[in-house]
Amino acid sequence: KKKIVVIGGVAGGATFSSQLRMLDEEAEIVVIEKSGTMSFANCGLPYYLGGYIQDRDQLIAATPESFQKERNIEVRVRHEAVHIDRNQKEVRILDHIGNTQYSESYDSLLLSPGVIPVIPEIEGLSHANCFSLRAFEDMLKIEEQIEAKQFKSVCIVGGGFIGLEMADNLKKRGMNVHLIQRSKHVLSVLDKDMSEIIEEELVKQEIDLHTDTTIQKIEEDGCTLHLTNGQVITADFLILSVGVKPNRYLAEQAGLDIGVTGGVKVNEFMQTSDPAIYAVGDVIETFDFITKQPKRVPLAWVTHRQAYLAARHVTGHPVPYKGSLGTSICKVFTLHAASLGLNEEHLKESGLSYETVVQESNQHAGYYPGAAPLKLKVHFSPEDGKIYGAQAVGKDGVDKRMDVMAAAITGGLTVTDLQEIEIAYAPPFSSPKDPINMIGYKALKKLNKQAH
Ligand code: FAD
Repeated sequence: KKKIVVIGGVAGGATFSSQLRMLDEEAEIVVIEKSGTMSFANCGLPYYLGGYIQDRDQLIAATPESFQKERNIEVRVRHEAVHIDRNQKEVRILDHIGNTQYSESYDSLLLSPGVIPVIPEIEGLSHANCFSLRAFEDMLKIEEQIEAKQFKSVCIVGGGFIGLEMADNLKKRGMNVHLIQRSKHVLSVLDKDMSEIIEEELVKQEIDLHTDTTIQKIEEDGCTLHLTNGQVITADFLILSVGVKPNRYLAEQAGLDIGVTGGVKVNEFMQTSDPAIYAVGDVIETFDFITKQPKRVPLAWVTHRQAYLAARHVTGHPVPYKGSLGTSICKVFTLHAASLGLNEEHLKESGLSYETVVQESNQHAGYYPGAAPLKLKVHFSPEDGKIYGAQAVGKDGVDKRMDVMAAAITGGLTVTDLQEIEIAYAPPFSSPKDPINMIGYKALKKLNKQAH
């Protein structure tokens, strides 16, 4: 029987080992997890801090005991892989409980060690109460400190998905929230006109938004923050959410190939440059679904898919990866924002010629209660109507449109095919001509005009 060692016991590692067990009843599976908690819902952490989720145990999908009992998988928490010996096919492991080291041999190895939060260089950062939110333990620490020190104000550094979710959740808790974004607009996956709608919402919700600036210096009191634009603000603590980098230390030290985006290089079956070692999730570089260019997408859907594909390959049932669209969605107070594929910036960088259509209408029949504006924007090729990317912002119905767009791109539909999708309609849900269909009609008009 085969022995498979898994490094990292959360999204990628837990999914891989469960899938593997379904495909191979015999294999010996050992999961090594550095932290004290396996298989927790990273994505739910901000919502616990905001009080949307009251019971933190709901965020834990499985425990070492349940994995052992239900799946015959051994999970060792507080055990850290510190070295891979590819010649001997062994992993050196540090047991943080017993404070000892030992080696574990493997036939195949899976790496899913995730990312490391980027810590920005700020003068005086060590004076401040600073947190990143990545692990379950990070969440517990933030919660404990908020309560113990009675924090009333926060400065969130970085206006990506996690920064915005934290702004929403900490405001819900009654805090005074500053949000700092170094570039001109928050949520850089969106085009400027879409981010601006989110920024208006942040201001409406009384978030102190500072764009195009960053923290230059923190005074010794740990609370007085000097911004590069000359402003001085105060906050009891900081949440650092400026980005993440692949946790590729083990892979690098083992001499595995690293891709141009900084992620561990894998083939379409998730094998690294050593065929006995697989890697999935936030640590890897895959490729863009549309351009086929190298891409890193540190998101949960792609991680779960990759884990499934790695389990298929290791058990001799290979299915290739088709690339990442980077489909993402986020709730920012009363608004939802979503995007997939290439945005204007990506398109300009890639040198592709593109056209854009925008549909601004209600998400459902205007006469039915709760009608609210929805902006849907789609980029496509003027040559053949190939869909390059889509974005949507609105109070409701954003996820539905984005999921239809994801299905359309995955299935190879062109932008004009969008007219023909028979959308589920009744007044509380849509209109007989859904925004998706309208994009198709508008694109057809644009393409026809160009053809004449
Ligand atoms: P992780 O799930 O991070 O697991 C890596 C594990 O490896 C960690 O537990 C770590 O302790 C362990 N590890 C690292 N090094 C070692 C070692 N040497 N030895 C042993 N163990 C090790 N994605 C979405 O798609 N939608 C969302 O809404 C969303 N929200 C998020 C919110 C937050 C706050 C965070 C932090 C992430 C969010 N994500 C979201 C991203 C998503 O959680 C990740 O894409 C996913 O968890 C990646 O899985 P992974 O297995 O690569 O890494």
